[in-house]
Amino acid sequence: WKKTINVAVTGASGTIANHLLFMLASGEVYGKDQPIALQLLGSERSYEALEGVAMELEDSLYPLLREVSIGIDPYEIFAGADWALMVGAQPRGPGMERSDLIQKNGQIFQVQGRALNEVADRNCKVIVVGNPCCTNALIAMENAPNLPRKNFHALTRLDENRAKSQLALKAGKFYTSVSRVAVWGNHSTTQVPDFLNAKIGGLPAMNVIRDNQWFKEHFTPKVAMRGGALIKKWGRSSAASTAVSVADSIRSLITPTPPGDCFSSGVISDGNLYGIQEGLNFSFPCRSKGDGDYEICNDFIIDDWLRMKIKAAEDELIQERDCVSHLIGR
Ligand code: NDP
Repeated sequence: WKKTINVAVTGASGTIANHLLFMLASGEVYGKDQPIALQLLGSERSYEALEGVAMELEDSLYPLLREVSIGIDPYEIFAGADWALMVGAQPRGPGMERSDLIQKNGQIFQVQGRALNEVADRNCKVIVVGNPCCTNALIAMENAPNLPRKNFHALTRLDENRAKSQLALKAGKFYTSVSRVAVWGNHSTTQVPDFLNAKIGGLPAMNVIRDNQWFKEHFTPKVAMRGGALIKKWGRSSAASTAVSVADSIRSLITPTPPGDCFSSGVISDGNLYGIQEGLNFSFPCRSKGDGDYEICNDFIIDDWLRMKIKAAEDELIQERDCVSHLIGR
């Protein structure tokens, strides 16, 4: 047996976590030979619900699940965490401005970043799901100076998965034939699903779907608005597919990326690639050797249209960062 890994999950009584936790415990994410301990963070208001979640996990008799601990103190729950999956965030309420939400949630990620800094494993990998996830990941990272800056991810994999599904549907091909799909920028409506570099059956997507107008006028907004469209139908935001995309993100870091392929993740920009400003959490195409680490792909073609769209996403992320400058010491 491998050594047990400690996986901390915040917002653990919420809807996404309710899907995610059972995937983690089953072994389908970290592997069928990887024992796991789940450390679940809730709050006073959700404590009883959290106890219920822990009861359900215990009753599922997962052979790989070695321990479930619950609590409301991030310093306790993040102790020794090899992974921190940060799902918990305050939802946007009626009449709440986006900037108010950024402030409110920013404070949560400041506190939790500080806790990670003190008590998590020194190579803890962090995936931020709670919105606005890119800026929240930036805040957590800036408040955890003792952890590698590279290890902080914002979840943009759901956007990549949505883009792949739309390309497959349009081409009439199965989604496994779609590869090299990057989502650039922010997890918001300025996100840039990249059709220029995407491949279908190993060929450029634009050679398979010969309809330039469709890519710009239908594909791009459809992927960017998918979250909102789902809320309208379902009455709440995507949960199961979000949990699947968190699982995909983890697997992308612990299994080697196939040659020529990539996965999307919001990671720290060092200012050296694609002209993106240093110090932003920005979604890039990444590759991994499967050791939990990654590099940003440096061979993506950028045309004028893509550059313009990427710039708009960068501007939005700069604005978001400006809103929280007091939380990140800038
Ligand atoms: P839920 O409302 O079901 O759960 C959210 C959890 O967050 C709750 O369990 C709650 O737990 C916690 N929470 C609420 N307010 C606060 C607060 N003030 N401080 C700390 N924690 C809080 O939401 P979902 O599970 O559906 O979604 C969680 C987050 O994921 C949201 O921010 C959502 O926007 C985001 N999301 C991101 C996606 C992505 O692709 N990046 C896709 C879909 C959703 P408690 O009561 O214990 O505090």
